[in-house]
Amino acid sequence: MNVSPGSNVEVDGIYWCTVCKTPALFEQGKVFPACPNLCSKGHWELVLPSTNDSAAEAPR
Ligand SMILES: [Zn+2]
Repeated sequence: MNVSPGSNVEVDGIYWCTVCKTPALFEQGKVFPACPNLCSKGHWELVLPSTNDSAAEAPR
């Protein structure tokens, strides 16, 4: 699942650049930025989907 910079984030999770493998956390509703290392052919690949569904309901 690769997405281009400028696309909307549809799934919360940790993504990395397909070129330099720099990981970054993105949240649903945000827009993917360009890779911080400016990889011209870099895309973002989801490597670890967020699994905090239950955490959102947990009392503080
Ligand atoms: Zn990169």
